[in-house]
Amino acid sequence: MEAAICEVCLKNDMLCEGCSKKLEEGEISQKAVDLSRYLYSLTKEHSYLKDIEVNEIYVGEEVIVIVAPEEDVGKVVGKGGEIVKKLASEVDRAIRVVEMSEEVKQFSKNLLPDVKVYGVNKVFSPKEDYYKVVVDSDDTSRIMLKDEEFTEVVKKVTGESAKLSFK
Ligand SMILES: [Zn+2]
Repeated sequence: MEAAICEVCLKNDMLCEGCSKKLEEGEISQKAVDLSRYLYSLTKEHSYLKDIEVNEIYVGEEVIVIVAPEEDVGKVVGKGGEIVKKLASEVDRAIRVVEMSEEVKQFSKNLLPDVKVYGVNKVFSPKEDYYKVVVDSDDTSRIMLKDEEFTEVVKKVTGESAKLSFK
């Protein structure tokens, strides 16, 4: 399994120097470390999880976003959703498994599966250019991410700034 922390750290309770640094610098969160380890512990029972890759685990207040490559999304969800169910009960929060894309437009859509996205447009601003992600205001409750959480997860995955806008 490939995750935010190395395999040694997935197996142990302590973090190696490299992984501690990531944690200290805020590149990964403690909750993401815990969840990666929990996911790893499930490989014993569910061997299909062994060779998966997890690009990012983002912990929001309402929902935890797990970003994985296209070919691994189904495995992270699990047979009949068994893995997602276990993760959700472990953290007592909704889990959303999202297909990886480094492209803002595509990733925003992947991140908001049940939300109508009207468009993703680049806005040129003297301060910092960003992508305006226009969504249907009727779908607000389905986003499950606060505006700043949406911006943060898109930045982590694509390196770009994006802001939600409601229509
Ligand atoms: Zn490590």
